[in-house]
Amino acid sequence: MLYSKLVEVYEELEKTSARLGKIDAIARILKETETESLPKVVLLLQGKVFPNWSEFETGIADKMIVKIVSTATGFSDKEVMKHFNETGDLGLTVEKLLTGKKQQTLGFKQIDITKVFENLQKLATVEGKGSQEVKINIVKELVMHSNPKEAKYIVRTALGQLRVGVAEGVVRDAIAAAFFPDKEGDEKRAVIRAIEWAWFMRPDYGEVACIAKQKGLEGLKKAGLELGKPFQVLLAEKSPSLKEALESYENAQIEVKFDGARIQAHKDDEKVWLFTRRLENVTRQFPDIVKMIKGGVKAGRCVLEGEAMALGSGGKPAPFQLLSQRIHRKYDIDKMVKEIPIQMNWFDIVFLEGNPLFDKAFKERRKMLESVIKVSPGKFQLAEPLLSKDLQKAEKFYQDALYAGQEGVMVKNLDATYQPGRRVAGGWLKVKPIMETLDLVITGAQWGTGKRAGWMGSFVLACRDQESGEFLECGMMGTGVKEKKTNERDITFRELTEMLKPSVVGEKGNMVRIKPMIVIEIAYEEIQKSPNYDSGYALRFPRLVSIRPDKSPEECDDIERMSKLYAQQKGRK
Ligand code: AMP
Repeated sequence: MLYSKLVEVYEELEKTSARLGKIDAIARILKETETESLPKVVLLLQGKVFPNWSEFETGIADKMIVKIVSTATGFSDKEVMKHFNETGDLGLTVEKLLTGKKQQTLGFKQIDITKVFENLQKLATVEGKGSQEVKINIVKELVMHSNPKEAKYIVRTALGQLRVGVAEGVVRDAIAAAFFPDKEGDEKRAVIRAIEWAWFMRPDYGEVACIAKQKGLEGLKKAGLELGKPFQVLLAEKSPSLKEALESYENAQIEVKFDGARIQAHKDDEKVWLFTRRLENVTRQFPDIVKMIKGGVKAGRCVLEGEAMALGSGGKPAPFQLLSQRIHRKYDIDKMVKEIPIQMNWFDIVFLEGNPLFDKAFKERRKMLESVIKVSPGKFQLAEPLLSKDLQKAEKFYQDALYAGQEGVMVKNLDATYQPGRRVAGGWLKVKPIMETLDLVITGAQWGTGKRAGWMGSFVLACRDQESGEFLECGMMGTGVKEKKTNERDITFRELTEMLKPSVVGEKGNMVRIKPMIVIEIAYEEIQKSPNYDSGYALRFPRLVSIRPDKSPEECDDIERMSKLYAQQKGRK
């Protein structure tokens, strides 16, 4: 299939903001695509060349693209930068400058989807000395052979900033429209549920589209876990109080809510894989966990869930930043293993010796979990259960957990089945001491003055619109960020600025625009309606609580949650 076909769809998606229009445009191209290209087309439509859970990334920076654009068009780096600063979008820059280019390039040849896809995938395999040059050449080859519009989308895809607004739900509905066009009403809802289920088990819509096309509705329903590929996990709902949480379930189990990071572990005899909640493959980063699993799990094939915690002094959790260092470290891993030891706390099992356990009640899964884990206290253990509905006992358990430096407790329904799908499904309630915070992304910042000169001094916060996938602004925050570090948990202006700098996509006056990458947890006094921000809401006195490296921008809170909280707050007054 020619890349120009996909570009037509991108253009249509960029022009229509209507959800149905987008679904229709995507469904049309999916229907036309031959099966073997389907996985590629679906990923490219989402601006990706690897599924979310892949450990590979293109690793292309703005600077590299600026070089490519200047060689391909004959404009100087400075001229390219000038245009980029005005638009904040290197895709638009390459389109504009290629149209008015100063020198002749190789000329336009019809480029196909496979070529684009394979070149961009190749980027992830280039490593080591001279790799920048090789990467530049790979993208340059594509840009030199494409017309201005094609180049726009190639550049955006290489950078991971497609900007055409295809949210995951839109792809799901487009697969339904493409391969089950006659279904209406309840039948259509059943199709959507089946597609969703397949995606929970195989979180790559490329694969899901192939199942839909080749195996139909039954194939989607039967889609199951595959060892070595992550599935979408169950999430917890916040509970306003321990009392309310206990009253929610007839049979409840209380566990410590550990201050760590969730790990999904797959074991296939001697092979072990580890994934984070964001489905990143972190097997290489945690050889210590892999070893503990090989020695401490009495099952050949299984999928376990637990919380990895960095061990501090006295068995207390070490600051999250240390665990985060372990998660992101790509070299000197053995040294890190010694410096930052890990404690594994297992709390669930969803697959055992060939059998998925999603349909089993938690009390049964818990028994199986207990039967496969060989406990090594303090290192490799089970989340200790409190099986009581007595509020006093539960309060004590909760206070002990907080005293031990943990986040709070989880109250779990012993009769509930496991509902995969990164959604709140009613089986787990979390109880934490702080007020309901919001997880938001940073989409801009203002350079500081006075004491904060040289650092970004206040930050534009945004929530997500699930329909369009866009991020909508809802306030500016400067409080909670520290000038000086007085303890490990403090985040300074310097640290935040360094973290955000690589994601700056444009600058105007003393404001910068930032690609949504970093999710932060925000406390605030009140949510107000406001015409000043495109979300329609403004946070009063927003304050930084923590950075959420475990959350992707797509997982930040959405506009719906803002309006729900707004309504609740009004109700209270
Ligand atoms: P939150 O990230 O605040 O939505 O809380 C849910 C997270 O708590 C899960 O994704 C786990 O990473 C973590 N967690 C810690 N301890 C437990 C536990 N005992 N059971 C389930 N999740 C836990």
